[in-house]
Amino acid sequence: MGFDTSGLLPLSDALQGMLAQLDGCCDSEQLPLPQALGRVLAADIASPLSVPPFDNSAMDGYAVRLADLSNGAPLIMVGKAFAGQPYQGEWPAGHCVRIMTGAPVPAGTDAVVMQEETQTDGDRITFLTPPVPGQNIRRRGEDIREGASVLAAGTRLTAREMPLLASLGIATVSVRRPLTVAIFSTGDELKPVGSPLAHGDIYDSNRYGVRAMLDRMGCDCLDLGIIPDDPAQLRAAFQKADREADALITTGGVSVGEADFTKQLLEELGEIGFWKLAIKPGKPFAFGRLPHAWFFGLPGNPVSAMVTFDQLVQPALAKLTGQRFERPLQLQAIAAEPLKKAPGRLDFQRGILTQGPNGLEVRSTGSQDSAVFNSLSRANCYIVLERERGRVATGETVTVEPFGGLLL
Ligand code: AMP
Ligand code: MG
Repeated sequence: MGFDTSGLLPLSDALQGMLAQLDGCCDSEQLPLPQALGRVLAADIASPLSVPPFDNSAMDGYAVRLADLSNGAPLIMVGKAFAGQPYQGEWPAGHCVRIMTGAPVPAGTDAVVMQEETQTDGDRITFLTPPVPGQNIRRRGEDIREGASVLAAGTRLTAREMPLLASLGIATVSVRRPLTVAIFSTGDELKPVGSPLAHGDIYDSNRYGVRAMLDRMGCDCLDLGIIPDDPAQLRAAFQKADREADALITTGGVSVGEADFTKQLLEELGEIGFWKLAIKPGKPFAFGRLPHAWFFGLPGNPVSAMVTFDQLVQPALAKLTGQRFERPLQLQAIAAEPLKKAPGRLDFQRGILTQGPNGLEVRSTGSQDSAVFNSLSRANCYIVLERERGRVATGETVTVEPFGGLLL
């Protein structure tokens, strides 16, 4: 192993400690349904009506009373019921009602027989198979009963929820205001895309990843760009973020030594803890509060920044934005090749999960260096290797976590 890992903080402790400190949540506001897409429900939604609101036909066919069919004789069609145009006439014995899908069933209907199970001769209808009571009738309240809880507070509204809310006649919903999150990258070597690189420069990639993940979480992003390793400029950026945003996420400058003045500044401006996490990638991580904003300091290495955002910042922002958050499922898979690993840290290796002949198989994307970014792009899962585990041999069972919403 060669280095002492005993002082490193387990991921679960960091997560728990952080979530325990985060209090408060975005205010709520009332929005018309179409504008609420992507927002988070601030309150549970109970159904104001039954769905369907009346007994109706699930088929195009005939509404019948079972008693009329007891002697096997054909029935005479007495009238028609359409969706939106109920049949309201008399229904004498020995008759049936032609009915279309979605039409209310006339009072007294025992069953609807689909037209494929009948023979017609003018308005004389012969029923080929005896109907089962209740068949092809969708009962009032069968999908949703009036007053039943349909969506819980914390649900993010997607294309799946919009038609559900509309079906209940809900025109406005109470949703959380978006959280404003300021971001900036730190480092003298960083240049924005679109500008030439001098020797020693690299492009700032982290801001594009962080922005994309904030977008996915429905946060408003205040992008403060690239801040050089300069105390005055850093101080101004921290202060601007603190004034204008609910949270600040930075990347770079939180590792030991190099970033001493970032640390000094943050300690002077707020209450920030600098953690060394027992995870790989992503060891350095800072969390705390500025006077008016929460602070998350991610490592500068691109893969570390993405992984720490996904694993730590995502649940934190979910709490601040009132979103229900569930980690993606973890599955067991067979390592299809050996995996390098040293005991001491919980590894989130980038893997490619496939369905093999004997179940799930996983391979590494190759170099797991935290600066090798294409490993993340080619991966579809994390291979989660336990802290104390060493090298993994082909055929061993490992835990995998398919990428969740932020990385898809
Ligand atoms: P730091 O955490 O500032 O020591 O940075 C660690 C490594 O990540 C260094 O190689 C940096 O050049 C690199 N790095 C820091 N910030 C970024 C960024 N925004 N985009 C790409 N690489 C970065
Ligand atoms: Mg740096």
